[in-house]
Amino acid sequence: MYDLLIVGAGPAGLTAALYAGRSRLKTLMLEKIGVGGRILMTEVIENFPGFVDGVHTADLIKRMQGQVTNLGINIALEEVLEIDCKLKSVKTNAGTYSADAVIIATGAHPRKLGVPGEDKLTGRGVSYCATCDGPLFRDKFVAIVGGGNAMAEEALYLTRFAKSVNIIHRRDQLRASAILQEKLKENKKINFILSSVLTEIIGSGKVEAMKIKDLNTSREKIIPCDGIFIYIGFIPDTVFVKDKLKLDEAGFIIAGEDMSTSCDGIFACGDCRKKTLYQVITACGDGAVAADSAYRYLVSKK
Ligand code: NAP
Repeated sequence: MYDLLIVGAGPAGLTAALYAGRSRLKTLMLEKIGVGGRILMTEVIENFPGFVDGVHTADLIKRMQGQVTNLGINIALEEVLEIDCKLKSVKTNAGTYSADAVIIATGAHPRKLGVPGEDKLTGRGVSYCATCDGPLFRDKFVAIVGGGNAMAEEALYLTRFAKSVNIIHRRDQLRASAILQEKLKENKKINFILSSVLTEIIGSGKVEAMKIKDLNTSREKIIPCDGIFIYIGFIPDTVFVKDKLKLDEAGFIIAGEDMSTSCDGIFACGDCRKKTLYQVITACGDGAVAADSAYRYLVSKK
């Protein structure tokens, strides 16, 4: 029996654990894949306060994890399958844990394009992680799909290796922040294919080409390429709380400013929560608030 269970060990969950540990709550963290979460799909983040030249995400996570384990909190690598929000019990692939409060910090996973060839060629030229796979494309021709900050950061990262990086975006304007757009425009390896969608990924055994449709003319053309990176947003990992907590239509958990959800004693923080700004710094802020709210909730129950 724990005071607190934290599901997910990305920046939100790790910060919640840091605050819970410092409040001396008996806490267990449960993490499905590995400590860090989606942030590790980006090599460096430039907008974490205090790091003028950016910070390597692997280093940041290592430091966060160190702070948590120094406080005696265990991180069990187990997948949460079910949660009983009333009893505050969590069933994983390895056992069942109970607590007086639960913080959900499960984050999100990349959205797929859903075009022919995508599934078949994933891991064979199609990737959702430039940080992981970018170095495999040295002197190759790659494309990246999307128009947000994640696409922009990763397109810049890919220029370190690739011969050229084609940005394919469905509108004529990106939504990435202005500073990132300036960097993209300055980079000679980057080309823009705007108002266009990728309709098919072609290749037998590995990516060889992509089919692109110009949305202004409806014309399609086939462009040879070696790799395709997909950065078109993310989907919250909240399936296990569907029908148990209030979610929005896209599956993000609805939580208040204090991170409380529709169930007493269950809190949500980070990318799995509906909010306006999805950043590492806001995930950390959410985590701190969630742990503080859980602490106040536990004290009020005593
Ligand atoms: P995002 O901001 O939601 O952008 C997703 C992009 O994919 C949009 O440009 C969207 O086009 C496009 N898109 C969505 N579905 C598509 C489809 N089916 N086909 C083609 N294009 C599609 O997602 P993100 O870039 O992953 O970022 C997610 C959140 O994390 C954002 O809040 C972002 O600011 C934050 N983030 C911040 C940083 C940073 O500040 N360092 C880094 C990474 C991510 P439209 O523009 O036409 O909608």
